[in-house]
Amino acid sequence: MASVSYPYEAPVSQTLFDRASVVTPGGVNSPVRAFRAVGGTPRFMVSGSGPYLTDADGREYVDLVCSWGPMILGHSHPEVIEAVQAAVGRGTSFGTPGEGEVALAEEMVSRIEPLEQVRLVSSGTEATMSAIRLARGFTGRTKVIKFAGCYHGHVDALLAAAGSGVATFGLPDTPGVTGAQAGDTIVLPYNDLEAVHAAFHAHPGEIACVITEASPGNMGVVPPLPGFNAGLKAACAQNGALFISDEVMTGFRVSRAGWYGIDGVKPDLMTFGKVMGGGFPAAAFGGRADVMAHLAPAGPVYQAGTLSGNPIATAAGLAQLRLLDEAAYERVDAVSAEISGLVGEALTKEGVAHRLQTASNMFSVFFTEATVTNYDEAKKQEAFRFNAFFHSMLSQGVYLPPSAFESWFVSTAHDAAAIERVAAALPAAARAAAGATEEGK
Ligand code: PLP
Repeated sequence: MASVSYPYEAPVSQTLFDRASVVTPGGVNSPVRAFRAVGGTPRFMVSGSGPYLTDADGREYVDLVCSWGPMILGHSHPEVIEAVQAAVGRGTSFGTPGEGEVALAEEMVSRIEPLEQVRLVSSGTEATMSAIRLARGFTGRTKVIKFAGCYHGHVDALLAAAGSGVATFGLPDTPGVTGAQAGDTIVLPYNDLEAVHAAFHAHPGEIACVITEASPGNMGVVPPLPGFNAGLKAACAQNGALFISDEVMTGFRVSRAGWYGIDGVKPDLMTFGKVMGGGFPAAAFGGRADVMAHLAPAGPVYQAGTLSGNPIATAAGLAQLRLLDEAAYERVDAVSAEISGLVGEALTKEGVAHRLQTASNMFSVFFTEATVTNYDEAKKQEAFRFNAFFHSMLSQGVYLPPSAFESWFVSTAHDAAAIERVAAALPAAARAAAGATEEGK
């Protein structure tokens, strides 16, 4: 099949973006959607079906973002839509407990052994914010260790040297976060256990928790080196701190039991979002029952939410999780291996220095020859080559994350036809990457 070729202009998206820019800062409700790093007009999407998105100009794209992870079954999966429609028919929010919340929590707990109890919230940011509050409340300590390039949502204390949009835009520390909020955050290089031991040594009895992405995807895909997560867990245990594994991105995506299902390192607390909401705002934190018992109303650490455990979000999440059996993960893994393999072949053929990094079915391309093990190394890549690559793919109907510092996501719905469209677009995109210059970015 020949690649699709679109005119580069997107007049309807442009008109919508102009309208949006009047009423919304930067024209978007989340910075990475704005195309600032890659340039050009963000595409306003109007519908999604299986592996495809359709924009306001009527153009179809193979979607390799999948809403930044959640849409692991593709868009508009009939069984998820059916569950949502049934839930909507019963009402949209009650502000009381409901069976859907129990069923979703039971499904999550049944998949992940260290997850003894969960509290549902509405975003990954809320999950990590609440988890570190609980860790501080439980330990009576103030300091938090996080790693440069890891993104845990826009929690004040966790924005220092964060990945995702903060990495994409090369932002230093964010204005609006006070010294007091950031002062208890210790930022260390990722994959560096020596630095962790040194920090515990320098702050005896002060560190409440270490939070890490279970396998980082927010500086591009940079998996933990063998023994890193186990080393973090051991250091926390030795020093009376809690080990928090942020599985907002990896949870229920990289395996049935998330990254825990792959490395088996038992966190004290975990955070979730994305896949567990089936495309709706649902997220969670949870872990050891004795720690969770400190949470209100069982204990003194306060945490709450008007829409927490929303019946539509829980119905969507539950329907999606129940469809995610071993066969579904095998399919996502196979799609990921095939597409990442094709990307590597195309870039190699054009002589473009690159490094494809994978963590189960998450992957990303770094435009550098060296292995990337931390944020400083990630930043050394030739990101301008990604920008040329991105625009070539976009103009041929393939929607990539608009940043060189993000994971790509695929779904069970990416069938042979969708993969063939990606394959057909790659040679021209690889040539564009090869010919890119820093000035021309
Ligand atoms: N933690 C991780 C690892 C994430 O990737 C994200 C979002 O990308 C978050 C937390 C924040 O989640 P949300 O955007 O739902 O607030």
